[in-house]
Amino acid sequence: MAKIHELPTVLANQIAAGEVVERPASVVKELVENAIDAKSTEINITVEDAGLKFIKIVDDGNGIDPQEVKTAFLRHATSKIAEQRDLFRVRSLGFRGEALPSIASVAKVRMQTSEGGQGIEVNYAGGKLVNEKPAPARKGTTIEVSSLFYNTPARLKYMSSPNTELSRISDMVNRLAVSHPEVAFSFTSNGRELLRTSGRGNLLQVLGAIYGMKTVSKMVKIHADNLDLEVNGYVSLPELTRASRNYISIILNGRYIKNFGLTKAVISGYGSKLMIGRFPISVIEIKADPALIDVNVHPTKQEVRISDEGQISKLIYEAISSALADKQLIPDASEPF
Ligand code: ADP
Ligand code: MG
Repeated sequence: MAKIHELPTVLANQIAAGEVVERPASVVKELVENAIDAKSTEINITVEDAGLKFIKIVDDGNGIDPQEVKTAFLRHATSKIAEQRDLFRVRSLGFRGEALPSIASVAKVRMQTSEGGQGIEVNYAGGKLVNEKPAPARKGTTIEVSSLFYNTPARLKYMSSPNTELSRISDMVNRLAVSHPEVAFSFTSNGRELLRTSGRGNLLQVLGAIYGMKTVSKMVKIHADNLDLEVNGYVSLPELTRASRNYISIILNGRYIKNFGLTKAVISGYGSKLMIGRFPISVIEIKADPALIDVNVHPTKQEVRISDEGQISKLIYEAISSALADKQLIPDASEPF
């Protein structure tokens, strides 16, 4: 027998899942991103027992052609890119074609989907198709993930406490909602509604739903642009701070990203106004030409390479420092909304 062989599909998918599906919050992220890419206007997220027992995402997006739904569960199968040059101008959140097969390989998955006509339901367990049947003609997709990591005990053991896993999901949902104020989100955990946004496209309203109106009344609008870039968002007044940088959210073309340099630019916009060890609450939305951004860096796509990071940093710095300077001249100018 040859010593080298290709791995069976389910095993290959489980290996990919090791990176893409680290914990329940990553499942929520991948599925909600799919719903956003499908142009949903409303996305409802339900979890039970911090997502380890059950995760359900209902969207009203474009749905999947019943003929193609099984293809969507194949590795590297995607509708979002087709050829090499597409990789350098990705406008969607997904493009790797890994989430569905990865999740299906480490959980039980039920998907109902319809493009408006006759729908289809498929059931997967441990990466294998269990059955398929007709489903109602409701445009959009419902996906249920249960018994996450039931067949990968090592991964299951590595989960933190339910409270920690739930707060990771909650953080993720908040960031997705902030990144897409044009989508109406709801998030319910064990029957309790934790977030609801209106989908009216108002970032400040989303921030109000997450942090409360009192916090939001201490945030100011920022804006700066040049020929290639635009920076918008809200930042807290220097009096409203947190002990961690985690409340600084950077959103690049609708994708929440982690970027040390841009986070530093936010802090430097405050000059000497922040106390040592204190950080602002802020949401920075950047619009840039997708050709300048390489999203193909890491499977979760939270790290990206930006070709003109210095220019973006400069704009962020300018937007924040000028907004805060205005506030010092007119202390009572916080805008009503
Ligand atoms: P990717 O998002 O990288 O394309 P996924 O494995 O997440 O890969 O999804 C595979 C394909 O399934 C997507 O390209 C898309 O065509 C389809 N799909 C997945 N989820 C949805 C959804 N909620 N609505 C519509 N289509 C979906
Ligand atoms: Mg995806």
